[in-house]
Amino acid sequence: MITLQDCQALDAKDALRPLRDRFALPAGVIYLDGNSLGAQPKAAAARVAEVVTQEWGKDLITSWNKAGWITLPERLGNQFAPWLGVGEGELMFTDTTSINLYKVLSAAARIAREDAPGRKKIISERSNFPTDLYIAQSVCQEYGLELVLLEPEEIAAALQPDVAISMLTHVNYRTGAMHDMAAITAAAHSQGILCIWDLCHSAGAVPVDLKGADADFAVGCSYKYMNGGPGSPAFVWAHPRLINRFWQPLSGWFGHADPFKFVPDYHPAQGIQRYLCGTQPMISMSVLQCGIDIYTEAEQFGGMTALRAKSLALTDLCIQLVQERCQGHGLGLATPLQHAARGSQVCLTREEGLGVDGKDSGAYAIIQALIARGVIGDFRKGDGGTGKHKDILRFGFTPLYVGFEDVWNAVEHLRQVLESGEWKKPEFNTINAVT
Ligand SMILES: *Cc1c(COP(=O)(O)O)cnc(C)c1O
Repeated sequence: MITLQDCQALDAKDALRPLRDRFALPAGVIYLDGNSLGAQPKAAAARVAEVVTQEWGKDLITSWNKAGWITLPERLGNQFAPWLGVGEGELMFTDTTSINLYKVLSAAARIAREDAPGRKKIISERSNFPTDLYIAQSVCQEYGLELVLLEPEEIAAALQPDVAISMLTHVNYRTGAMHDMAAITAAAHSQGILCIWDLCHSAGAVPVDLKGADADFAVGCSYKYMNGGPGSPAFVWAHPRLINRFWQPLSGWFGHADPFKFVPDYHPAQGIQRYLCGTQPMISMSVLQCGIDIYTEAEQFGGMTALRAKSLALTDLCIQLVQERCQGHGLGLATPLQHAARGSQVCLTREEGLGVDGKDSGAYAIIQALIARGVIGDFRKGDGGTGKHKDILRFGFTPLYVGFEDVWNAVEHLRQVLESGEWKKPEFNTINAVT
């Protein structure tokens, strides 16, 4: 049996502990939702004030040059590039994940149309984050393709020569299950299939080596593990062998070879800059810098090797404590036990019919009761007992700021919420707009 003292001892010897001080975490809160919206870097408030007061307020339009606004998407890309295994000048922060996915899917569809016009399928996972599937549906309409949705175990067999594009999310948002990017990309390439990877739940959370895996395109957001702030700009990457093959479909002036020539004809910039569209949100982009700076600092503390080791230790601890202390309440584990197949979250399932009046699983209410106690995780709806996806209680572990004692306390709150039946209170059973 693991004890509170064991967890405190783990915190005492945690080399990453100083990085927790870089975050403005409210007292009394155990934040296990950094996979949805990362915590606030302490530097963020001063950075916003500087951008608003000085750069915008006093320097006005000169800040595009003077404060380097114009090059910020690329500078941030270069700063974060090593964390994704890509090179200088290959990564841009811009727009949202949904928009960037549209750009790279369209580029891939055009490449496939030219190189392999007979291929008509885009494959993805049925439990992929819905916006990815919605965007793919538009691209399918535009390019005459068909979106084929698969269960994870069906992917290997589906990599056949009739597939144009594989569009997968590396770490699944519902279960925390992680694909073997290198193996899937190699198998897909052997069949002539282009690979797009969505890294929303991977960037800053798990080791990613896009070049090593020989991926074709990647996108991801920066407001989750990267702590860029709500709606902070997402990133886009294209392998250098593909970048210049096509215009991206949103051919705005920031992707032009010479935007300030103001010529009527579009000539795309060379390199990843062509994946920009229009003017970027500089307040938001400037704050993102604070999140990325903490990653740069984390390099002194062992970088991704240390972060990954701690993330696995945190998720292992959570799984073990739930098994030891929360038996008999209909909980199961959706996250893989195998380290190589796990992202940085622990997702617990709950059986249907255990909710108030036997109506649902009660998972939503349990999460609300935990939030009322200051333990912030979230709920992801299953398919209502009709198929294979159960309701999920989701807990994200950001090793930059979550400690081992936090895990102990969170599971202890969960145990108390379950054993007392506190979650059955009416106020925890009313569904809010954002879950
Ligand atoms: C969070 C997330 C998104 C979010 O997309 P936005 O355009 O930022 O709203 C998209 N895809 C995946 C896989 C995600 O996890």
